[in-house]
Amino acid sequence: MIRKPILVVVSGPSGVGKTTIIKAVLAKRKDIIFSVSCTTRPKRPGEVHGKDYFFITEKEFKKMIERKEFLEWAEVHGYLYGTPRRFVEEAFSNNKSVLLDIDVQGAMKVMETFEDGVFIFVAPPSIEDLEKRLRKRKTEDERKIKRRLEDALWELRNIDKFQYLIINKDLDEAIYSLGSIVTAESIKVERLEDDVKRYKEEVLKDGRKG
Ligand code: 5GP
Repeated sequence: MIRKPILVVVSGPSGVGKTTIIKAVLAKRKDIIFSVSCTTRPKRPGEVHGKDYFFITEKEFKKMIERKEFLEWAEVHGYLYGTPRRFVEEAFSNNKSVLLDIDVQGAMKVMETFEDGVFIFVAPPSIEDLEKRLRKRKTEDERKIKRRLEDALWELRNIDKFQYLIINKDLDEAIYSLGSIVTAESIKVERLEDDVKRYKEEVLKDGRKG
């Protein structure tokens, strides 16, 4: 069980499969919750307001920026996306870890304020592979696919700012990797202060070791 909450940031080019990997990992864990972002992008078929995103207008989004309601926000492929600050703060105060699925610009902003966040980059095996994935999901037209591929090149140039790299060649392996990172991070001694204290006190009380 996670004791000191963690901010896990999963980033990488859009279309790389981040959402699928994240959903699979979070389905099995109760100690970490997904941060639902706000966006001005139109809803895709099947997406649910409040679950996938909060779909809001540009006017509403700009008001939220003015009120400093975002932990970070960025313009991604022509639309605005942002992480509501309140959600993350509330989760932390309830001792819950939070996972963000955000673009690389957003992740780099979060790095400035959350030094002990866990930053994971999900990359495609190649640009050709990413292009194939973007075409297969049929959610963007040709112009938007080109834009997403151009943005992906910039994002890939920033891999070295992250702590972990998952190359999504095999979905099961990628899911396993993300789950392993979250598990390993959550059982770091520095995040388990209460347990360490408890063990020390119990052992001391036991009189066996100091
Ligand atoms: P999509 O439109 O395909 O759902 O997402 C496009 C990109 O925006 C993805 O890379 C996704 O991770 C990113 N994104 C989603 N929510 C946020 C957010 O709150 N902030 C930032 N900076 N990027 C986001």
